[in-house]
Amino acid sequence: MPITASMLYDLATCEHRPTMDRYADPALRDPASPFVEMLWRNGRAHEDEVMAGDGVDALNLRLEPGDERATATIAAMRDGVPLIYGGRLEVDDLRGEPDLLRLVSPRRYIAGDIKSGSAEEGPADARKPKATYAVQLALYVDCLERLGFGIGRRAFIWDVNGEEVEYNLDAAKGVRTPSSFWDDYLEFAELARAVVAGTARTEPAATASCKLCHWRTTCSRTLEERGDLTLIADLSRRMREPLRAHVGSITELAATQPERLIGSKGKSLVPGVSADSLRKFHARAVLLTTHGEPYLTQPVTFPPHRTELFFDLETLPADNHCYLHGFVERRNGDPTTERYHAFFTDAHRDEAEHRAFAEAWVYVQSRRPCTLVIYSKAERTWWRILQHRFPDVCTPEEVEELFSSENCVDLYRVARASAEWPTYDRSLKTLAKYVGFSWRDEDPSGASSIEWYNRLRAGDIRMKQRLLDYNEDDCRATRALLDAIRRMGRAA
Ligand code: SF4
Repeated sequence: MPITASMLYDLATCEHRPTMDRYADPALRDPASPFVEMLWRNGRAHEDEVMAGDGVDALNLRLEPGDERATATIAAMRDGVPLIYGGRLEVDDLRGEPDLLRLVSPRRYIAGDIKSGSAEEGPADARKPKATYAVQLALYVDCLERLGFGIGRRAFIWDVNGEEVEYNLDAAKGVRTPSSFWDDYLEFAELARAVVAGTARTEPAATASCKLCHWRTTCSRTLEERGDLTLIADLSRRMREPLRAHVGSITELAATQPERLIGSKGKSLVPGVSADSLRKFHARAVLLTTHGEPYLTQPVTFPPHRTELFFDLETLPADNHCYLHGFVERRNGDPTTERYHAFFTDAHRDEAEHRAFAEAWVYVQSRRPCTLVIYSKAERTWWRILQHRFPDVCTPEEVEELFSSENCVDLYRVARASAEWPTYDRSLKTLAKYVGFSWRDEDPSGASSIEWYNRLRAGDIRMKQRLLDYNEDDCRATRALLDAIRRMGRAA
């Protein structure tokens, strides 16, 4: 079995997944979620659209039979074809299928992939390459080098906006991270070889990637049965390994005095886990094993305004599109005054997005002074982006002032920093359900809402009400959580 780019992509997402794909009983796989299926469809449609575009003139090898593609690709590179689409590179134990191979100089090619998402990640002022894309590109580069067609450790992505973003695989990943994506590639390729040989010892861990993974049910069961430490909120796979030298499960951690893991000078004896984190994880382990009540770890005060707006946005991040600004408004803490206000656009155009943003802005201004309650910084980030795109609506200073701490509560920050919960994570869905709130939709999630919006754009008008109900419930869930935190007593 060759080492492929998709195997490396999976390893960069979760080191256990290729092991499950290769050795677990296929009958235990969860069906792909509608969201994942939508991503596949959109990815393929985007690729077709790009390749059908003006000025993209490539030799298409995508439809060559599998065992002839590699030979056809070598022949095309020897012939100096300027652009090859859907080629296959096979050498030693590697198999790469770059979307594109572009002639740079005689017998020298650079590889690239077409992605229906952004080529980079991170905040706008510190964008960086995606590790998952980088390891795939590195495999193509390795194949080209070994085949004698390489041009150095660089490759490219054509992103969702049609822009080409170059990946320099030899560059350090950051000021504090001197290693490169090429180093990562070499590590992941070795791990992939061990998986194929059956000698890799990988294990599941509770991570954000599990939500969309087809092994989520099986892995969750394993993690719960083991009382795995990564089920503790914020305790990562990387922290689990050194911690396991002392405690093997949540129950063991709960039964241990955290000071046992802290040296006489107050420093943690567990590499990579600070003394404060040890105490925090211990408290969480105790709550989980005793099914205790959540509690505040420090006093919490909220702005005193009579009007509260519980605000939630719905967006298509890959398209940089914000289509719904929803607010539940409440007066004097009285539930009978609650009203939902939505500013929605199903038209995928600047004018429509501008109108919805402008109306939402006017609405919020008309309710001030008020407390604006959000769950995470996404609303602020998106309103900054929208202000930048539509500067006639408001100024940057006005956006900053609106989201200042005096007027605005980021309830996610409060729930994380000022409270402890007997739950595995601190998502709005988990905490609001814990305090008794329930969504009307059977499958409420940000990923589902993106899939529903895509269906709406494809003509399924029932999805509009589904989206509005989901958004309204998110706003009401935020309200339910805020009320629960208000009621919480401080821990003894
Ligand atoms: S469910 Fe999670 S741990 Fe299991 S293979 Fe998938 S991502 Fe990895």
